[in-house]
Parts: sequence; C-alpha cells; structure tokens
Amino acid sequence: MKIIVVGAGSIVPTAERFGSGIYIETKEANFLIDPGPGVLERLRRINVVVQNLDGVFVTHFHLDHMSDLLPLIMLWAFDQYGNPSLSPEPLRLFGPKGLTQLIMTLVTDTFSYLSNVMGCMRYVQAKEMSDGESLEYKGVKVTAAEVEHYNGLAYRFETAEGTIVYSGDTVPDERLIRLAKGCDVLIHECSFPHERLMGKHTSEKQLAAIVSKTSPKVLVVTHLYPAWHGFEKRILEAIKELGLKSIVLAKDMSVIEI
Ligand SMILES: [Zn+2]
Ligand SMILES: [Zn+2]
Repeated sequence: MKIIVVGAGSIVPTAERFGSGIYIETKEANFLIDPGPGVLERLRRINVVVQNLDGVFVTHFHLDHMSDLLPLIMLWAFDQYGNPSLSPEPLRLFGPKGLTQLIMTLVTDTFSYLSNVMGCMRYVQAKEMSDGESLEYKGVKVTAAEVEHYNGLAYRFETAEGTIVYSGDTVPDERLIRLAKGCDVLIHECSFPHERLMGKHTSEKQLAAIVSKTSPKVLVVTHLYPAWHGFEKRILEAIKELGLKSIVLAKDMSVIEI
C-alpha cells in the first residue's frame, strides 16, 4: 500500500507545502482524500489518471481541502487525452452532511454550465457520511467520525494491507482517538506550534497526547502552516519518546509505503 501526501500544507503556499490532499493506492482501489488546491496537478506529476480514481473523500468544506473539487468534476467529462468522454464512469464523492446540497448549488446553479453544457450530473454520485457510519467499498472498509472542526469528518480505511486514519482538520477530539486506536498509519494535522495555536487545530503538544492514546505504528504529520518554518524539529522532539516505528513530517509528495 502506498500513501502519497500530495498536499501537506495550508492555504498559504510555501516552497514545501500547499493545500491538502492524500492519495492512497491499495491492491483493491485508489482513493483521493481532500482535493485541495493544486492537487490535480500533483496527481498528474505522479501519473495518476484522475478519471481512474475509485473514490474521492472530502473531510470538510474549507477551500484548502476542496478547491479542486469543481475542476475535478468538470475534467471527469473528458478522458485522459482531453477528448469528450461519452460514457464516463461514476465519480464517487464522499463527504460530510451538506455535500449533496453543496454540489447541487455549485454545479446546477452557480456554475450551471457544468450541468447544462458539460452534463456533469450524469456521473456525479455523492454520498454523505455521518459520525460512526461505515461502508464497504471496493474491498475497503471506510468509517467516518465527526471531529470538532466546522462540520469535519475524519476517516478510517481498513484494507487488506493495513489501516489508515486521516484526521482532516481538527482540535484534539475523543472521537478521532476512538477511530484511530490500533491503526497502522495515523495521518494527523499539526497546524501550529503550541504557543501560536489558532482556530480549531492541533499543536505538537496536543498531537503527542493523541499519539500516546492511539499508538499507531507510523505517524504522518501534515497540514503545517508557515508558522512552523524553522521550528519543525520540535514536532519530532515532542513525539520521539512515544515508541513509534516511524514519524514522517510530510512535505508535498512525501511517500509512505507499508
Ligand atoms: Zn479547515
Ligand atoms: Zn485546512
């Protein structure tokens, strides 16, 4: 199984990190979580044909996690060579409550050419997930948990090759801790150094407490704001004593194989 952090940052671009996006490739399926800004271009760089994605999961409706959603919906009307696709496969979207309404508003109202001219609604299939809900899809069990961040969802992916949990954006949340217990790979946000913590996010001290309660084998730290510039070592220092097999301070295009 391969995980590629295609976007490891925030809405503020730096040389190493921009936007949010996690690409997961297993024997059974390939998924994208969070089509944040620049993610479609990054997938192209690693030769992922986005029309072949089995599913796209959205954690929450913030632009740094979903601004490439509309371009994704539109380009699905074409094949990988840019020719109109006469019978595109379904584009399966999963996300929090409100996803269906959001797509309807954007695709049939605000950008109505997407439905009137491009015919996007013939292939878009949106599925809203709620706290604790599980589904089996393409041989992978996916479970969602609500987290404290503006209608946010975290996801757990149980595959034959291992279990991955992705926090999305969140404050330290007991529901995430329950979801992540015993996982192989925990991908968790760490937006700001502790003394500069803002908004509904997590610091390195809080992340250390989350890791000690969930005991993943591998921790992937993501969603780093520019405030971390020059201080990243503090994340490793906060977590190094906790017995993990490895810690990855993600940059754009970091690859984790298990
Ligand atoms: Zn957010
Ligand atoms: Zn964010």
